[in-house]
Amino acid sequence: MSQTDVATLSDTVASPVPSEMGANALYDKCMALAHNLWWSWHPEVTNLFRDIDPIRWRQLDHNPISLLGEFTPERLAIRASEMVLHSRVNYAYRRLQEYLNKTNTWAATNAGVLGGKPVAYFSAEFGIHESLPIYSGGLGVLSGDHIKSASGLGVPLIGIGLYYSQGYFKQHLDADGYQREEYLETKVENLPIEPAVGKDGSPITVSIETRDGRLLAKVWLMLVGRVKLYLLDCNVEGNRPEDRELTSRLYGGDERTRIRQELVLGVGGVKALRALGVHPGVLHLNEGHSAFGPLEAVRQAMKDDGMTFDNALREIARKTVFTTHTPVPAGHDRFDGRLVEEHLGPLRDQLGISYEHLMSLGRVNVHDAAEPFCMTVLGLKLSRKANAVSSLHGHISRRMWSTMWPDRAEEEVPIGHITNGVHVPSWLAWQMGQLYDRHFPAGWVPKIGEPDVWQYIHNVDPGELWETHNALKNELLAFVRRRVSRQCRRRGESDEIIEAARNLMDPNFLTIGFGRRFATYKRANLLFTDFDRIISILHNSDRPVQVIYAGKAHPKDEPGKRFIQQIANLRHDPMLRGRIAFIEDYDINVCRHLIQGVDVWLNNPRRPLEASGTSGQKAVLNGGLNCSILDGWWAEAYNGSNGFAIGHGTSHVDDRITDQRDAESLYEVLEEQIVPAYYDRDRDGLPRKWIKLMMNSISTCAWRFSSHRMVMDYTTEAYVPAAGGLSKDMNFRY
Ligand SMILES: *Cc1c(COP(=O)(O)O)cnc(C)c1O
Repeated sequence: MSQTDVATLSDTVASPVPSEMGANALYDKCMALAHNLWWSWHPEVTNLFRDIDPIRWRQLDHNPISLLGEFTPERLAIRASEMVLHSRVNYAYRRLQEYLNKTNTWAATNAGVLGGKPVAYFSAEFGIHESLPIYSGGLGVLSGDHIKSASGLGVPLIGIGLYYSQGYFKQHLDADGYQREEYLETKVENLPIEPAVGKDGSPITVSIETRDGRLLAKVWLMLVGRVKLYLLDCNVEGNRPEDRELTSRLYGGDERTRIRQELVLGVGGVKALRALGVHPGVLHLNEGHSAFGPLEAVRQAMKDDGMTFDNALREIARKTVFTTHTPVPAGHDRFDGRLVEEHLGPLRDQLGISYEHLMSLGRVNVHDAAEPFCMTVLGLKLSRKANAVSSLHGHISRRMWSTMWPDRAEEEVPIGHITNGVHVPSWLAWQMGQLYDRHFPAGWVPKIGEPDVWQYIHNVDPGELWETHNALKNELLAFVRRRVSRQCRRRGESDEIIEAARNLMDPNFLTIGFGRRFATYKRANLLFTDFDRIISILHNSDRPVQVIYAGKAHPKDEPGKRFIQQIANLRHDPMLRGRIAFIEDYDINVCRHLIQGVDVWLNNPRRPLEASGTSGQKAVLNGGLNCSILDGWWAEAYNGSNGFAIGHGTSHVDDRITDQRDAESLYEVLEEQIVPAYYDRDRDGLPRKWIKLMMNSISTCAWRFSSHRMVMDYTTEAYVPAAGGLSKDMNFRY
């Protein structure tokens, strides 16, 4: 589908030098590569861009379009000759063409019914690469991984999201260790996006009526391998000034901003599909943010086919899949009736339903006029396939929403689960990928969602695996030193402090990483519950330990910011100097460095609040071992010999008691299992038991918690039945 977009660029350029590639042809091929995000999960292409100018590459947030923008075709050609890049560019370009033209994909044999009727996948954020600031955290990275795997498997899928010109904030810590937020405007011309055009070739604008006037949104197109991702953007002429900023920030503003963004994503998204001439066979609502979308689809069905509201609703719900992502109550959007009427009123008129009827679609108790309108309830009522994102989260979600089905036992509540996974090629370090290439069967990459290929890890020489891991760990420590010294320089700290930052940490020490949102339930400070005890663990002279932290707190989350401050300021403690680091501005790039280089990835949320978690899955791929509360994905992954468990999968009603017990268990696991296993070396200096755990972790978890497995599950369990109209009707009370 998208190969033409790539091909046209270079076809228009005649090569002046027949034997070698001409300067313009070289430049255009590089640009063509840069305009399909396929490059971002192919290290040989990423490294190619980097090698053009390694320093600028880093300074420009790894954005190849910005980088190429600093070169003329002639200068690039000179640089390419110096670096012998021509054949690498040609090879990468050919591989992209082959990828785009491949027809014998997994989906070709397993998802035929979707041909011509693609899945429309709605998400408020997409985390694809650090150079595209349209994500904030886990949900976005999951969506990005989902569409990358859909591309890899050949599942016909189209992404719908919002274009945030300022994205999420950049994080800096001030001299007090307090989080400061900075919003930067991204230059559209430096992003791999172009205006989406309709059937007649002109750019598309969608228009959404509210009681308070009309909202307009233009539509951008971005290519992610074989997948097209459309992003709606309210910064258009014709919108009021405040509306032009509506989509500038992710999760910014108040309730009204939020409902308006969600209106644009859901209703605007479905309108955009129609304008593009796309007729989706499935609507997948990734989280409740887009749950208004099916209502617009109902309107279209009523208009096109003359259906009644009830029939059209049944029809649309049959092909709608809804995924809920959090057991945290505040994570479910709730709006008051006034806001709903202001924004859905005109659509409601066209649907021919009363205000009470509309509100009842977002209420658990349809008769409770005081109950606000909940987007998760709407998503559940407008879909016939609903799922949570891990087995445990499935149980919690069925309990959480059981009052919607008062006649059913809790286990009969129609919310299933498909556990989250990660896109292996995006998170696997290049060196580790090389090792797998040497030992796994040829052509293993498309099969990463199946267990068989991963069993070959047990044939790898332990010394080779250990050496590869240590090379990656050294890269991580170099990254930590570079970033921390830069942070100190920015704060204007003394030369002595900056010099110390350049020598932080030791590659021979057991290294623990903790990177995630600083939501308080994730308990970033749990390790410091008993200060003396943790000091004795970190400072054990034979078996020292060091810890790297990273993470942002939501701008309105004061307690989360205080956690950051507490952790960041530990560096001033004489007992902890050099043993602890906080990397500012956690993003995909920081996460990639951390999960590729740590020995242990620590996750200690208050159970059962972590719906799945995915960062630990990324660590697995690179030989990192998980040490985690038995929550989310780890509750189903841990088998006693593939990592470490904190606690026994229980929680007390009193949070303080839970926290105390979990901290105690964390110390025990560190003292009795992790530290001894890591430092238990044979005559060759190899920690044999530890390496065995790394192999077990890879062979049991890598395939199962890959987004390839996840997308295969969505396809066979949800998309195919939904598109074929085979999903069972659930009994809802409309
Ligand atoms: C993977 C990832 C996450 C999600 O990690 P959790 O384990 O769910 O906390 C968040 N942010 C970034 C930048 C990521 O890459």
